[in-house]
Amino acid sequence: MKNNIFDLTLEKLEEVLVSNGFKKFNATQVFEGIYKRKVDNFDDINNISKNLKSFLNENYEIKYLSVLECLKSKDTNKYLLETNESSIECVLMKQYYGNSLCISTQVGCNMGCAFCESGKLKCVKNLTPGEIVLQVLTIEKYGNIRIDNVVIMGIGEPFDNYDNLIDALNILVCPKGIDLGSRKITVSTCGIIPKIHAFADLHIQVNLAISLHAPTDKIRNKLMPISKVYNMNDLMKAVDYYISKTNRRVTMEYIMLDGINDSEECAQLLSKLLKGKLVYVNLIPYNSTSSSEFKRASKNKIEKFYDILKKNGINVVTRKEMGKDIKGACGQLKASYDNKQ
Ligand code: SF4
Repeated sequence: MKNNIFDLTLEKLEEVLVSNGFKKFNATQVFEGIYKRKVDNFDDINNISKNLKSFLNENYEIKYLSVLECLKSKDTNKYLLETNESSIECVLMKQYYGNSLCISTQVGCNMGCAFCESGKLKCVKNLTPGEIVLQVLTIEKYGNIRIDNVVIMGIGEPFDNYDNLIDALNILVCPKGIDLGSRKITVSTCGIIPKIHAFADLHIQVNLAISLHAPTDKIRNKLMPISKVYNMNDLMKAVDYYISKTNRRVTMEYIMLDGINDSEECAQLLSKLLKGKLVYVNLIPYNSTSSSEFKRASKNKIEKFYDILKKNGINVVTRKEMGKDIKGACGQLKASYDNKQ
């Protein structure tokens, strides 16, 4: 089987080519061919030698993902894409500031968050760097659009597939490759502390979001098994470390669940927890599914929660609801497709 050319960062392609007798700059030519001119065939890269074309044709392939399903609503399209061994989801959101694509990093997820459809689909595979990057390339080609922002919050825990994630980020931001501004990318983690430290030490300008969803260990333990491994105190220290190293604001994702984490007391506790930190809270109305034991918090409660945070000097926004009518919660489209199969 041929290798996927999209799995290689520019540095890795340089190493491969140099070790096979080609020049380092040939990697840039290949990168520009596949990412800038978007050729479907190595033979169409007309500034490289015949020898290099044969080498690439023998060992690599240029293969986009196929679109298995596409569900559309007014401002959101949800796609099910086929990889070599499975299918993955990504969601296109048409925002006033451009096209945002939410992409996946694993097939399933082992983190088992109680409110999440993806957590019910056990992780069967880490996506390769190419499969992560190809979600962006495939949707750009399929929709004839440019993706302006990438949020890595789809199926899977990105830091549970760390090395492939970092290679994918390098390809996404590479000026010879996709050339997406690093500040236009957000990686969301449920809180794998050693990787938050490693990410901070990378000095990459990509945004970090933490799936927090609770103000205390007691509530978080009920929702997110990872919380029993890394407690709130250590998580907050890791966030402080990240901020001190990068001086970048961290997003705190907070899904509002009826009767679980939406009380006024929770809002006060959350304010206390985050006071003085360079963070902002993203309140997310929960996308209920028929199989979920959780319900969304009422509009009234979300507004109250928001007001308390605001009053306490915490930066907060309520996320605009998108894709509710098209199986908007991550994992929902894949689960329903897999059931049909
Ligand atoms: S919320 Fe994220 S980390 Fe938790 S189970 Fe779902 S995909 Fe995994």
